[in-house]
Amino acid sequence: MTKPVVLTGDRTTGPLHIGHYAGSLRNRLRFQDSHEQFLLLADMQALTDNAHDPDKVRHSLIEVTLDYLAVGIDPAKTTICLQSHLPALAELSMLYLNFVTVARLERNPTIKDEIRSRGFGRDIPAGFLCYPAAQAADITAFKATVVPVGEDQAPLIEQTNEIVRRINATAGRTLLPEAQAVIPPVGRLPGVDGKAKMSKSTGNAIALSASPDEIAAAVKAMFTDPQHLRVEDPGQVEGNVVFTYLDAFDEDRATLEHLKAQYRRGGLGDSKIKRRLEDILQALIAPIRERRAQLAKEPAYVLDVIRNGTAKARSRTEATKRDVVEGLGLFVL
Ligand code: ATP
Ligand code: MG
Repeated sequence: MTKPVVLTGDRTTGPLHIGHYAGSLRNRLRFQDSHEQFLLLADMQALTDNAHDPDKVRHSLIEVTLDYLAVGIDPAKTTICLQSHLPALAELSMLYLNFVTVARLERNPTIKDEIRSRGFGRDIPAGFLCYPAAQAADITAFKATVVPVGEDQAPLIEQTNEIVRRINATAGRTLLPEAQAVIPPVGRLPGVDGKAKMSKSTGNAIALSASPDEIAAAVKAMFTDPQHLRVEDPGQVEGNVVFTYLDAFDEDRATLEHLKAQYRRGGLGDSKIKRRLEDILQALIAPIRERRAQLAKEPAYVLDVIRNGTAKARSRTEATKRDVVEGLGLFVL
């Protein structure tokens, strides 16, 4: 029996962070045994708001791949491929742009949020506004039905499915499958400042490659409950970043619930919960950092992983492009 296809990826805008771990990498590790999984290094999408810094986009390609391999993505099971080297993705994007309106792109809640957080105002790069159509191309080119993503991405999957329905309606048959977002219960992890979501581009992240000192400093600076001044004061758990992170990473749920109750009643200091979080993050990141440092010594191997994965992805995506072009009744030489 053929396995269901999973497609996800990351923009190559910097090393991955613990938001990625909680939001998508954990799911991807689970899927690589049960599904046929493709991971896309989204360098073209990275350019949509980083065209001024192509060096960053190129370097981050290796950073992101090192992160994948370091957390346990196995290239024998998961295909890691490079977006800019899969021309069918660009061709499908161009085609799909005719199946979506500018108004619909502007209404997309993810795009609206990102436009705000990047401070674009009216100066939105056209490529940025259109990236949902490119993401639809990415997902459908692999005929993926499962897309493990963070909560911020859900509206993009909805937009992909709208495009798919239009294409299928035009073709008069199911050329492309609809995709389902798989979103972990933690939703989106906020940044260490507790404001926007943790993101590579906004400097509010703890990287999966963070040093012990960086982890300690980030936890120390973390926002808790501003009303919780003395240990004996009752404290708020909701909106408290330390507890949000404990919810995402503390596997001892019973103790965590007990600590939450104690914090709400009063009598539990911020330093204790921060110590607990720091220990958990240090233990999570240490083995990833070590494996990453080993792999970083083998750049030729890392490039081979990307080259081989991209070659495999190329034939898959070309086949889909042919299906779509023929299915729509467009001219084929
Ligand atoms: P950038 O700032 O360049 O947009 P990013 O940190 O938002 O980077 P992306 O490459 O855009 O990362 O996202 C890749 C995947 O990681 C997506 O599925 C996204 O939903 C998930 N993700 C990113 N940030 C978080 C977060 N803070 N919490 C949960 N999931 C996240
Ligand atoms: Mg993002």
